Amino acid sequence: TLDLAERAARMLGATVRELTVHAVDGVDLSIRKGEVMGLVGESGCGKSTLGRMVAGLHPPSAGQIRFRGRDVASLKGADAREAALKVQMVFQDPMSSLNPRMRVDQIVGEAPRVHGLAGSGEIDAYVEAALQRVGLDPAMRKRYPHQFSGGQRARIGIARALAVQPDFIVCDESVAALDVSIQAQILNLFMDLREELDLTYLFISHDLGVVEHISDRIAIMYLGRMVEQGASEEIFTAPNHPYTQALLAEIPTFATTKKTYSAIKGEIPSPIDPPPGCHFHPRCPHAFERCRVERPALKEIAANRYSACHLNDMS
Ligand code: SF4
Ligand code: MG
Repeated sequence: TLDLAERAARMLGATVRELTVHAVDGVDLSIRKGEVMGLVGESGCGKSTLGRMVAGLHPPSAGQIRFRGRDVASLKGADAREAALKVQMVFQDPMSSLNPRMRVDQIVGEAPRVHGLAGSGEIDAYVEAALQRVGLDPAMRKRYPHQFSGGQRARIGIARALAVQPDFIVCDESVAALDVSIQAQILNLFMDLREELDLTYLFISHDLGVVEHISDRIAIMYLGRMVEQGASEEIFTAPNHPYTQALLAEIPTFATTKKTYSAIKGEIPSPIDPPPGCHFHPRCPHAFERCRVERPALKEIAANRYSACHLNDMS
């Protein structure tokens, strides 16, 4: 699965950077210290691009990323380095994000060594502590990634992120490649680490079911725009936006035991030439004339509850 910007860039033969601004358009997201923010949307909705911007891996061409209240782009020297280290990313597929020619101790120890967080004599202890935290036997530290199971590789990816003692972790589809039972183990690990280390997470997934139990709040994106945000429980008990309702209809346990909503119809449209008005209108069961011409603004519809749908103006 490719991100919106990547997909668009391939089709146009342009560079990803030039199209970034279209990948994430007018998105406002603030994450409080200690909370888990789930970010959900279909492949190509711009959620990974947003995650990479938050993690400092992809500079926004417009707008700001603020960390602890300060615009990250304006930071210099030690402040910039500190901000970069405090926000770490755990990637989608451990097999492709772990260098196959590096041993686990080299993978986990690389960032602390490069950034001078540990002297050469201390790296081993650093690596051991990181591996123990994620439930891996430090005795396995001389092995290579292919000698581990998928779940263990996910743990290695997490240990690598933890090795620089971050405050904030961006998880991009971090459990998507795993079997369901292993997914649950890794999600539990994320939650244990949150308690132990006082972490904050932006947890990105295409699967609303995955983020349900771990998120305090959930943000839903569609074709580069934020369509709904709210407390996790409210999103699940009273989804406002027709797109959120459609995503819920795709979760088997939800669809059978709770309210029924229409499943989503049709393919996700081209990110290069998204539908006018509300991007969701060709797939929305409630679309009406205004939806085809006017973009719905993200409005506060209740306390700390936001949705971008014209239907909210009619009730
Ligand atoms: Fe559907 Fe219109 Fe609301 Fe968009 S604005 S979600 S098309 S009802
Ligand atoms: Mg992605």
